[in-house]
Amino acid sequence: MKKSYKIEVDCANCANKMEDAAKKTPGVKDAVVNFMALKMHVEFEDGADPKTVMPAVLKNCKKVEDDCEIYL
Ligand SMILES: [Zn+2]
Repeated sequence: MKKSYKIEVDCANCANKMEDAAKKTPGVKDAVVNFMALKMHVEFEDGADPKTVMPAVLKNCKKVEDDCEIYL
């Protein structure tokens, strides 16, 4: 399953950090952040529930960049 989320982040470097943090979150198969569009595209593992995975993604992203936001 794939979903897109609107994000808030200040620069491309932090967008990359968010992408890495999202990729490392359990339940996430792959994640791509598009800084120009301020979007995060997330592909979930089979059986993973976005409603439980995305709060963990947001938490991990805030660890690496506390100014970022993901609109869930
Ligand atoms: Zn930045």
